[in-house]
Amino acid sequence: MDFAINERQQQLIESAREVYARKLKPFIDNNDVHSADGTRKLRKEMAHYGLLGVNMPVELGGSGLPLLDTLLLTQTLQACDSAIGSIAHRSSTGAVGAIAKLGNEKQKELVKRSTAGEIGISIGITEPEAGSAATEMKTKGRIVGDHVVIKGHKQFVSAVNANDYTVLYCRLADTGSAKDIGAVIVPHDAPGFTRSNGTINMADELLFELYFDECKVPVENILIRENAFGKLISIYNGERLGSISRMLGSAQAAYEYALAYAKERKQFGREIADFQGLQWMLADMRIKLDAAKLLTYRAAAGAGDTGLPDRLETSIAKVYTANAAKEICDDALQILGANGYTKDYPMVQRYTEVRGGSIYGGTVQIHKNMIAAEILGRKNDQRKKN
Ligand SMILES: Cc1cc2nc3c(=O)[nH]c(=O)nc-3n(C[C@H](O)[C@H](O)[C@H](O)COP(=O)(O)OP(=O)(O)OC[C@H]3O[C@@H](n4cnc5c(N)ncnc54)[C@H](O)[C@@H]3O)c2cc1C
Repeated sequence: MDFAINERQQQLIESAREVYARKLKPFIDNNDVHSADGTRKLRKEMAHYGLLGVNMPVELGGSGLPLLDTLLLTQTLQACDSAIGSIAHRSSTGAVGAIAKLGNEKQKELVKRSTAGEIGISIGITEPEAGSAATEMKTKGRIVGDHVVIKGHKQFVSAVNANDYTVLYCRLADTGSAKDIGAVIVPHDAPGFTRSNGTINMADELLFELYFDECKVPVENILIRENAFGKLISIYNGERLGSISRMLGSAQAAYEYALAYAKERKQFGREIADFQGLQWMLADMRIKLDAAKLLTYRAAAGAGDTGLPDRLETSIAKVYTANAAKEICDDALQILGANGYTKDYPMVQRYTEVRGGSIYGGTVQIHKNMIAAEILGRKNDQRKKN
């Protein structure tokens, strides 16, 4: 077992930091990168510096980097600024991964366009009555001639306003089983597709409702005919590690900020870092950060050439990091006192960035169910028995 970051990974981290400082920070300072238009421009800018889709195969415009390198890049960019961490994650470990692994040649063109920063791709799973119980979704696609005709409703879908396609999970058969669920690539200009204006979440990001009213897309847009959850879960674990890396980046930034602040701020005539109460907080923050990184890197390194991480290792990394990142950002805020609680300092922003990690990609409770099922060797069926 080798725990050291190798030379290639170190170079990747350093060059990402340098591109951020020299090019992306000035761009972010001069543009509203949180608007849809600003996100699109920022995505193009990041593609120009080779920061998108780095784990995608070279023939699809990527650099073919291993999953662990990809996560280190996402983590580094997230620590610089969440807007770029988010785009790096979506273009590499987002919905695009499923298209790269399972798509036909035409569908794979979308991967090239995503890596070039021309388009963004969302993922639509959650419904009003099917959150954690995702396989109880009702959205349905009927095959009519050369088209899939979709009826239904999704909610809490990220980044739709700045994206061009959604990988939509929906029922493509009528047996009532979870295996009926397939995945269809829906362009956002498809007839019958509309979206809400978005709900603002705690981190000031928009989450959208998607409406499919006899929405028509060609049958060639079907990515998976059946058993999408079964087929996609190993790919989806890579996506989970991508969002975990974003939490690591935010927690790292909060920890470093608090550490520097504690050495500057004086009370009682001394640096507040002299007080043991704060020293132990900083020590705990560092222990949690290192442990979260090691669990995440283990899951990523274990994926090897397949890029598909183990589900138990992924769930363990997810639960630990979601809790640790929340605690680290909360302690960092505390170390800054009232300053930490204002929006003049980055702690509030960092806390809100990691808070959602306990909910999306499967809540921590659902991941604990999965861990328990795995270690007990039992099925994870949570449905009420009649
Ligand atoms: C920032 C953010 C971004 C998101 N982006 C997307 C996206 O792009 N696409 C998308 O499709 N969805 C997205 N989601 C939605 C997300 O996947 C769901 O919120 C999540 O699956 C939980 O569903 P729910 O919110 O309906 O909670 P519910 O399922 O209603 O759960 C409520 C509470 O009950 C607990 N609970 C439920 N069942 C069990 C059980 N069996 N055992 C123990 N506890 C249980 C949960 O842990 C939770 O605490 C996003 C969510 C957030 C916060």
